[in-house]
Amino acid sequence: YGDYNQKIDYVFKVVLIGDSAVGKTQLLARFARNEFSVDSKATIGVEFQTKTLIVDSKTVKAQIWDTAGQERYRAVTSAYYRGAVGAMLVYDMTKRQSFDHMARWLEELRGHADKNIVIMLIGNKCDLGTLRAVPTEDAEEFAQRENLFFMETSALESTNVETAFLTILTEIYRIIR
Ligand code: GDP
Repeated sequence: YGDYNQKIDYVFKVVLIGDSAVGKTQLLARFARNEFSVDSKATIGVEFQTKTLIVDSKTVKAQIWDTAGQERYRAVTSAYYRGAVGAMLVYDMTKRQSFDHMARWLEELRGHADKNIVIMLIGNKCDLGTLRAVPTEDAEEFAQRENLFFMETSALESTNVETAFLTILTEIYRIIR
């Protein structure tokens, strides 16, 4: 920090999508600020946070967008997807319905986003293993069929969050460089 003149090689916009309450905001808070709040309220309006990191020896500024509650009102607009080079499709592994809705979110994403967008399926809340409602194999099968990367994460316990973002950013870099 303090290096405000840091040279940025790339800015990658990545959008988070998925049903309300699956943990999108907390995944972003964990990744961008290493924070988690148990009582996260839904703020209305699109927001993004940035984090600058090194990917394959290049300085990449990740600009991660969160729907910030808009998904409840089916108001995620094409502006949200514009310019996105990556997308994280997030479900709550303790809520089957949030996984069943992934196909719809994927359809919406593919309807709005660039054809080359890198997509990662994220099963969040893996710390709640005893309440699991989505077997890993179901998600793997869906991911394979739809050509998505896949990872199970916990924003609460920090499991795989950094890895998931690094993986998608690295993949984006490989495609665009
Ligand atoms: P969003 O609506 O998709 O942005 O979801 P939020 O990030 O607001 O999270 C919804 C609720 O799930 C909040 O009560 C969070 O504290 C909780 N939550 C988010 N991520 C996790 C996680 O990894 N594990 C657990 N146990 N709870 C989580």
